[in-house]
Amino acid sequence: MNNKHSYHFHTKVIHAGQSPGDWDGATQPPIFQTASHQHETAENLSRTFSGKTNDHIYMRLTNPTNRILEEKLVALEEGQGAVVMSSGMAAVTNACMALLRAEDEFVTGNSLFMSTYLLFTNVFKKYNITARLVESTDADAIEKAINSRTRFVYIETIGNPKMDIPDLARIAGIAHSHGIPLLVDNTLATPYLCRPFELGADVVIHSTTKYLSGHGTAVGGAVIDSGGFDWSGERFQDFKPFIDRKGALAFLDKVWREHHINFGTTQAPIHSYLTMIGLDTLALRMERHMENALEVARFLDKRQEVTWINYPGLEDHPSHSIARKQFRDKGFGGMLTFGLKDQTACFEFIHGLKLIYHLANLGDCKTLVIHPYSSQYVSFDDPTRESLSITADMIRLSVGIEDVGDICEDLGQALDKTK
Ligand code: PLP
Repeated sequence: MNNKHSYHFHTKVIHAGQSPGDWDGATQPPIFQTASHQHETAENLSRTFSGKTNDHIYMRLTNPTNRILEEKLVALEEGQGAVVMSSGMAAVTNACMALLRAEDEFVTGNSLFMSTYLLFTNVFKKYNITARLVESTDADAIEKAINSRTRFVYIETIGNPKMDIPDLARIAGIAHSHGIPLLVDNTLATPYLCRPFELGADVVIHSTTKYLSGHGTAVGGAVIDSGGFDWSGERFQDFKPFIDRKGALAFLDKVWREHHINFGTTQAPIHSYLTMIGLDTLALRMERHMENALEVARFLDKRQEVTWINYPGLEDHPSHSIARKQFRDKGFGGMLTFGLKDQTACFEFIHGLKLIYHLANLGDCKTLVIHPYSSQYVSFDDPTRESLSITADMIRLSVGIEDVGDICEDLGQALDKTK
């Protein structure tokens, strides 16, 4: 399928980046399991190393199976170029590192996935890089935190696990008025629910491990470039060689050439293959995830053991109206958090589950729970946990696509077991 054709999302998600004639009539992309590629002539290998052809050289640099996934993601996000990587964290790291130099700053919402938070606040600190954390939904605070050293603004479309939804169009406008780009982690929303480029974002990041692959079989990440940001400004003098080489895709070239290749964050092609099998059903799965999540949220809301519930689909949620606008009434995501009496009640609830899996992942077609306070955030001190809204009474629930009656029945019988 020609990526430029304006098929609808349900069609694109299956056909983008491929056509039946591409691989001897095969309808599923092949796995190119080869470390390296033969070149007929020394001249061609030289041209390829100089970036003058798109031929493949070596798997750490590019791979044909990975490239098919890249083309599919470009079509779904409506960007201009993409690089897939070994994990979502590889994508977060490479995208940010391509922009940052020692002593630089960036502004980020404080509603961040745990490893992203640690990368920003601990790892980057070693290079005297300052991450200015402000309330993700407070656009004025984001603007106030920008100064002459700021290189970008970073935000999650739906914060994990805070479930808050920032106004991307407003934040993109603020970033651009200061001559800096907006980077968006679109993992929880997926391009089915939200396409950040349409709202003005410049770079989209994904953990493909979650909804995009959808079956808990593959780990991966992607950086997608809108190709729309002007990198020739004063703040980005270091982009000149990349602009000279790749023009509008200077940022992606910097991510790939300077970081992905040298950090060795290669995606194994089997992971791209598995991700693409999952991707075929993304639209259907998202519809069902979100339909089920809303029903589960309403079910939990009525249970006396549940002390609070945090799902943007509920009308009294602070992000409800921006979600409706930004996600064009398509839904509110497949994840939610809720409170029980205390940590003991959370553990009793988890131990009581019969159908739902207890594990550290989300976006799987199976329903999953975790108690973040005692697992992913166990080594965090309490003030930090509090600042990230990680409380001892909180359960995170990634609602799957099973029969919603069975999900609610399992939740209900496990809640019955809490005191
Ligand atoms: N971004 C978000 C929003 C996530 O939830 C995660 C993982 O849960 C990541 C990034 C990191 O992805 P990965 O586990 O594929 O490295």
